[in-house]
Amino acid sequence: MIDFVGAGPGAADLITLRGHKLLSEADVIIYTGSLVNEEVINCRKKDCKVYNSAYMTLEEVMEVMISSERKGLKTVRLHTGDPSIYGAIREQMDILDKEKIQYRVCPGVSSFCAAAAALNLEYTLPSVSQSVIITRAEGRTPVPEKENISELAKHGATMVLFLSVGLIESVVNKLYKAGVSKYTPAAIVYKASWPDEKKFVCTVETLKDTVLKNNIKNTALIIIGNVINSDYDRSCLYDPTFSTLFRKEEIKSDEH
Ligand code: SAH
Repeated sequence: MIDFVGAGPGAADLITLRGHKLLSEADVIIYTGSLVNEEVINCRKKDCKVYNSAYMTLEEVMEVMISSERKGLKTVRLHTGDPSIYGAIREQMDILDKEKIQYRVCPGVSSFCAAAAALNLEYTLPSVSQSVIITRAEGRTPVPEKENISELAKHGATMVLFLSVGLIESVVNKLYKAGVSKYTPAAIVYKASWPDEKKFVCTVETLKDTVLKNNIKNTALIIIGNVINSDYDRSCLYDPTFSTLFRKEEIKSDEH
């Protein structure tokens, strides 16, 4: 059994209890050294073998996983944030399927959640946006045409862009192409939850300058949307006149 584990966004104590236990018991850990905080694997056994996948190809990673599994060793493949978001786990799972090796996934706190926490942000404010679009600018990895930022931004929903800070000029141009106003609030969160986290709130108009002036080149998220700074309606769920499965509405005496 191979365990894919989400390491969380950076802070060593933002891994799940389950993920921490799996790491403490592992004989072999392959971690994404470019983004995972090494402190997360401090809990490992003394004789645990550690591999940094930043220096490895998919084939090399799979070779370690498969040979460790054949030797009966407990193997953890540690991914940054949550493995389901830009984690490249599907291709690993497909090879494990072919090798008839079982695996399971332990989720992690994605960086988009840590970025919201850093900004005290609620991505889904009533009457502002009830959807979060998680996407990226097209780099070497192609993005399907229908998912181009200039198409997705037309929805006016909250957007969180991964892997895009190096393409900030093109991102801003695509937002304008979608008709997004230059006054729309935006934010950049660099290394959310790490000790050297940085956060900037700006607008679409000042987004590019904010990125360039602060020399933000990687490990950052771009957030766009009125949820960053606008009026909203309070939630129905906690409204006294709204019944839920757990709470009956308050009936005003003058109405009955
Ligand atoms: N699976 C990860 C994302 C991996 S893709 C997750 O769920 O967060 C790598 C990209 O994620 C980075 O280029 C950056 O855009 C973003 N990222 C990862 N960790 C981050 C952090 N702590 N703060 C801000 N962005 C981060």
